[in-house]
Amino acid sequence: ARQVLLKQRPHGYPDATTWSVVTTEIPAPGDGEFVVRVSHLSLDPAMRGWLNDFSSYIPPVEIGAVMRAGATGTVVASAHPSYAVGDTVSGAFGVTEYALSDGRGVTHIDLETCGAPTWLGALGMPGMTAYFGLKDVGTVQPGDTVLVSGAAGAVGSVVGQIAKAMGCTVIGIAGGPDKCVWLTEIGFDAVIDYKAEKVLSRIREVAPKGVDVFFDNVGGEILDAGLANLRRGARVVLCGAISSYNETSLPPGPRRYLSLLVYRATMAGFVVFDYEDRYPEAVEAISRWIGDGTVVARETVLHGGVDAFGETLLGLFSGVNTGKLVLALDEH
Ligand code: NDP
Repeated sequence: ARQVLLKQRPHGYPDATTWSVVTTEIPAPGDGEFVVRVSHLSLDPAMRGWLNDFSSYIPPVEIGAVMRAGATGTVVASAHPSYAVGDTVSGAFGVTEYALSDGRGVTHIDLETCGAPTWLGALGMPGMTAYFGLKDVGTVQPGDTVLVSGAAGAVGSVVGQIAKAMGCTVIGIAGGPDKCVWLTEIGFDAVIDYKAEKVLSRIREVAPKGVDVFFDNVGGEILDAGLANLRRGARVVLCGAISSYNETSLPPGPRRYLSLLVYRATMAGFVVFDYEDRYPEAVEAISRWIGDGTVVARETVLHGGVDAFGETLLGLFSGVNTGKLVLALDEH
């Protein structure tokens, strides 16, 4: 089984020196364990944070350990009562062709409902993030004006579509014309191309009364532009700050934080894992929306071996993906 280990912590962007690829024996399951042949790997911006030598909401990946990653696959050997050979599953299997599991954090997935990439995207961790971030943290209400950054990505695209389904006006911020056209096609009311337009003044144009919910995936200048356009009682949802994940010094704080005072607004961060008990509720709702066409689940699926992991991860920071970025592993 080939697998990718963390060799050295990166300073700035990860590169070839960050990883080592090794070949090991395919594991054999002990009592209460099973072996998964991994089919698809999830590429997540959070992975960059897991490479740093400090603990945030989850401990860092240790040097020499298999890189942590969400994945889907098929059970190929089992000594576990709840997992049989042939079952399709999702879990934190890591960047490896074969993983040994005791079932913790593993869920069965039905590939008839949706393909494996969607189980890593709209029906996976990003979809859960969109659902609970918008509903529980953002307390979105019908009629709200919702602004979402990173709008064409895995989380952002689902945020916008759920908000539309709830009767909101939705503004997306994304990079490049292709992503902006797609967001319009899936129902966004207005789209701002941050690579070509002045974000702060464009938000003011399309939302002259300000925004009620700002779901921020990006941080930095884009966070500031959103803060400049709040409406009284607004909720700012701090989901992520991808613009700074590879920076080697801390980004400047939001310069416009006093907008929170002026508009009696709140800004709250959250971690999706705190909602684990309620994932079934979100999976039920989002799969219903996918089924009736309310939500379009899109993935960018690249193909390769686990060796392609490091290069593929960088794609998140250059924006190669529309929707969820997934690496489909070659036959192995
Ligand atoms: P995406 O699918 O959105 O992929 C990342 C996207 O970010 C890229 O496609 C790119 O799109 C955009 N991007 C990259 N660099 C920049 C930059 N410098 N400025 C602006 N945009 C940039 O990833 P996810 O949907 O998986 O994650 C989105 C955010 O949500 C991340 O910040 C992530 O950390 C966070 N997150 C938080 C969770 C939580 O529990 N709080 C859980 C899951 C995710 P473009 O071409 O438009 O630039």
